[in-house]
Amino acid sequence: MAIQRTFSIIKPDATKRNLTGKIISKFEDAGLRVIASRRIQMTREQAEGFYAVHKERPFFGELVDFMISGPVVIQVLEGEDAIAKNREVMGATNPENADAGTIRKEFALSVGENSVHGSDAPETAAEEIKFFFKDEEIVG
Ligand code: ATP
Ligand code: MG
Repeated sequence: MAIQRTFSIIKPDATKRNLTGKIISKFEDAGLRVIASRRIQMTREQAEGFYAVHKERPFFGELVDFMISGPVVIQVLEGEDAIAKNREVMGATNPENADAGTIRKEFALSVGENSVHGSDAPETAAEEIKFFFKDEEIVG
């Protein structure tokens, strides 16, 4: 295991319900540190670019509309095995399949409005961090 960085988004369904602090506590309780953070209103261009890998999926339009429907909190999380650990704390994409105690089990509304995003591999983590943050905005 090694210290890694991963990219996280607290999605509009969660910011709207004022769950930002509760979600960040879950990261911190799991040993992840917030080393960069910004609350933004994503543009359509940013959302389409960020989720370009899902462009051909039937839910792409719905996903982009949702991601720009309200503010999001973008973050870089750092810790031991951070990519896998964050995915563990998030729980399964569909909250119905998520384990007890995970963010999605406790807070997500549906498979689409599922409260958080987390990078799924070292390469995507690096790309996603770079998509939103400059080096000097990340203070580990
Ligand atoms: P994320 O990438 O957001 O961390 P994930 O890796 O668990 O989630 P992906 O398969 O990458 O899931 O899907 C990206 C996002 O697209 C999901 O988080 C969810 O918001 C949305 N999504 C996935 N499947 C569906 C679906 N069947 N219907 C509607 N939205 C979906
Ligand atoms: Mg994904």
